[in-house]
Amino acid sequence: MKFAVVTIFPEMFGAITKEGVIAKAIDRGILSVDTINPREFAKDKHRTVDDRPYGGGPGMVMMTAPLSDAIAQAKAKVAGPTKVVYVSPQGKPLTQAKAKTLASLESLVIIAGRYEGIDQRLIEAEVDEEISIGDFIVSGGELPAMIVIDAVARCLPEVLGHKDSAEQDSFSNGLLDCPHYTRPFEYKGLTVPDVLLSGNHQAIAKWRLKQSLGQTWIKRPELLEKIKLTDEQVQLLQAFQEEFQ
Ligand code: SAM
Repeated sequence: MKFAVVTIFPEMFGAITKEGVIAKAIDRGILSVDTINPREFAKDKHRTVDDRPYGGGPGMVMMTAPLSDAIAQAKAKVAGPTKVVYVSPQGKPLTQAKAKTLASLESLVIIAGRYEGIDQRLIEAEVDEEISIGDFIVSGGELPAMIVIDAVARCLPEVLGHKDSAEQDSFSNGLLDCPHYTRPFEYKGLTVPDVLLSGNHQAIAKWRLKQSLGQTWIKRPELLEKIKLTDEQVQLLQAFQEEFQ
């Protein structure tokens, strides 16, 4: 999958392209992350990409022309059918389901805003979808864009070492993940649940599902209202709840 990000701070993307899972996937040719800087399309010697807002008020607004040219170059870079996403606090919240849907695309162009955001006419003329990383404001779209890329890339087959790791992550089946343990067996008087040392894979899978249901019930009970539990899941959750009291 190809990602092309329109950003005035391309160096920030080294945070995902130089280290970790995304960097490895780039090295293996599974995905690419390009950046296009709208400053390269600015017409003045200061390479200005922002201007004062019509109507007055604080802050600056990203101008249409340099951004529009940068978006055109981003589309040319990914070469093929694509979707233009503007990361914005006014967008629909990013969810695991949304990340999975986006992962089915061949490419994604992401616009990272700065200042007070981008000119509304660009949103109307160029943007297919606005995506938010949550109900709070960060200073620019670079971190949100990296979050979108990371979440989407994790949904691509082959990006994660173990084919199943993404399936086991929180939210992929509507539930939170189960607790995880590693060596040593004892830490500050706390030990690892016996079943995980039993070698009984069926019993381990059942315990993990029960914990997953239980953790969701404790921490994010509203998630349980959004999914239909199987008979086995209902029984496991009831057992967890009885033991919890
Ligand atoms: N004035 C804008 C508003 O209140 O809707 C916020 C502008 S913010 C300081 C600058 C840029 O950061 C935005 O254009 C957007 O790209 C990005 N941004 C900030 N918060 C975000 C969020 N929660 N989700 C996605 N992008 C965000």
